[in-house]
Amino acid sequence: MGGIVYLVSGDAASAVACCIAGIFLDLDHIIDYLYHSNFKFTVKGFFHTCEGYRLKRFFLFLHSYEILILLWLIFLLRGRDRILLGVNIGYTAHLITDQFANATLPFTYFFTFRLLKAFKNVFRQNS
Ligand SMILES: [Zn+2]
Repeated sequence: MGGIVYLVSGDAASAVACCIAGIFLDLDHIIDYLYHSNFKFTVKGFFHTCEGYRLKRFFLFLHSYEILILLWLIFLLRGRDRILLGVNIGYTAHLITDQFANATLPFTYFFTFRLLKAFKNVFRQNS
């Protein structure tokens, strides 16, 4: 996505911000896995657990449309910063991709929905 931002805007800083936001959004999976594994991290366990939707709780703090809406409001109200524009594009692309690529329910990536579900599994189950 950063390449597209660069091609359209010609702004390297915005493109880099887009890439960083798009990649670092997934860091919240590590937090969820550490909680699940009692802070015993293994790469194999991480992928087995996360890709199979086997976590005890799905906090996914960064995968939240509420944050995305807030970021776009800040962008619109606070001077339309080009770095924040890149962050917002990367964040938006990431969440939309996850929404359709993962076994989500319609509201899975709303933090409020997950909170109301006590952070229990909010993904479709493969029986
Ligand atoms: Zn993600």
